[in-house]
Amino acid sequence: MAGWPALKEAVDEDHNRLDRDIARWCKDYGARAGKIHCGRGCHNCCTLHVDVPLTEALLVSDALSAEQAAAVESTVEGMATELAGIDDFKTFLRHYRRRVGACPFLGADGACTVYTVRPFACRALLSTRPADWCAIDFAELTPLERTLFMDSLDRAVVAFPTHYVEATQEQARVLETTAILAMRETFGVAVSGNLPYLVHLQRQHGLGEALAQGEAAVRELLHRDGIDSPFLVHLHL
Ligand code: SF4
Repeated sequence: MAGWPALKEAVDEDHNRLDRDIARWCKDYGARAGKIHCGRGCHNCCTLHVDVPLTEALLVSDALSAEQAAAVESTVEGMATELAGIDDFKTFLRHYRRRVGACPFLGADGACTVYTVRPFACRALLSTRPADWCAIDFAELTPLERTLFMDSLDRAVVAFPTHYVEATQEQARVLETTAILAMRETFGVAVSGNLPYLVHLQRQHGLGEALAQGEAAVRELLHRDGIDSPFLVHLHL
């Protein structure tokens, strides 16, 4: 697979760079009496849709056991049932969380089973509130609860109106864009999308190899497998 080893190595290096920067950021925030509540076993954010460059999905795919790969297929079956035909992004996100459910890489102990290769988006999502808040559907709060919640946020730090840190997510977005541009420069086209779905496309159809053949091969593969959703896979031309 010409090109992929170098692309994966670059993303791996950027994962390490992001981790170092996040550790530094957390130390500074702590010195200003700020607190990040994330820790091993807290997993309420692992029901969110995670969008990644294909390179990150390939790193995860490479690391999977047969059991983890089977869990991916089960999750993707749920996506086909619950997400097909939804063309509104907010509805897609809500159905994803409520009906597709937890990430297939979430272990029974609440820890990430692909921790060393987890994507930028997971590394960068830092909660400034206790884990219970990460499970809340904002739309279900009463107006008073919503106001109290928003008033409690450190607006200089969070991606308002969420309780997640903005700066780390912004750095993750920059690194994701870097990975997408490197993929496009290598193959003339790049792919990003939902983490479990891209892993499925790689393991069942060899999406990475198809991408190396160009846009037409990717489109043909997506047509063969594709769940009818505009939000699961993005092509960057
Ligand atoms: S990859 Fe790991 S950290 Fe990210 S959503 Fe899945 S279980 Fe959670």
